[in-house]
Amino acid sequence: MRLRNIPGAREQLEESIHVYTEDELMKGRWKSEVFERQAPLHIEIGSGKGRFITTLAANNPDINYLGIEKYSSVLLKIMRKQDENAVDNLKLIRMDATDINEAFEKDEVDKIYLNFSDPWPKDRHAKRRLTSDRFLARYEKILKKGSQLEFKTDNRDLFDFSVESIKEAGWRLDYVTYDLYSDEEMLKDNIPTEYELRFTKQGNKINKLIATYV
Ligand code: SAM
Repeated sequence: MRLRNIPGAREQLEESIHVYTEDELMKGRWKSEVFERQAPLHIEIGSGKGRFITTLAANNPDINYLGIEKYSSVLLKIMRKQDENAVDNLKLIRMDATDINEAFEKDEVDKIYLNFSDPWPKDRHAKRRLTSDRFLARYEKILKKGSQLEFKTDNRDLFDFSVESIKEAGWRLDYVTYDLYSDEEMLKDNIPTEYELRFTKQGNKINKLIATYV
C-alpha cells in the first residue's frame, strides 16, 4: 500500500502511546510490560489502514494484539483509529517485518495473520514474500509450536506459492479455500480487510489458508 507521504508522520508516531517504533521494540516484554497481563499474543504483519486488526481486537478483549506496518503514513491511519476509540489490547509497531526476530523472543507469539500481502511477482523478489521460506523460518523463531498462521489474498499466484512453501517448510495445512465467500461456515467470523472489501466488490475470488507450525 503506497500512500502519499504525510509530512510529520514519523514524528507523530514516535509521540503516540499506541505505537512502538523499530527503536523501541519490547522483545520478550510485550506481555509483561506493554499489555501487563499474560494473555495470548496475536500479530498481524502488514496491517495497512488497520480495519482488520482494530475490529479483531475489539471483538476479542482477552487476546493481546500487535499490528505491524512498515510505512509511517499508513500506520498513522491505524493510530488515529486508536486515538479516537482506543482498545487496551491493541498496540502497533512500525517496522519492516524482515527484522521480526528483533521484536519477539522464541515462543512469544501465539498466532500470525497475513492479509493481502504484497505479491512481489518477480522471481528474483520471491524471498520478500511474507510466506517465503525465509519468512517462515523467521516465524518459527517467534511462534509457539502448535500455533497458527492465517493468510488471505486474492492473488492466486501468491497463494499457490504460499501453499507450496508452507508444505515444504513442514507446517500442517489445516484449511485451504480458493473461494472464501462460498464457505458460509468460515465467513461467520470473517473480518474483511480494506483490500478485501475492494477486491470482492470487483468480483475477485478470495483465497484463504490456515496452517499450523508443528
Ligand atoms: N492488510 C491490509 C489489507 O488487507 O487491506 C493491507 C494490504 S497492503 C497490499 C500490504 C501492506 O503490508 C502495506 O501496508 C505494506 O506497507 C505492508 N507491508 C508490506 N511488506 C511489509 C513488511 N515487510 N513489513 C511490514 N509491513 C509490510
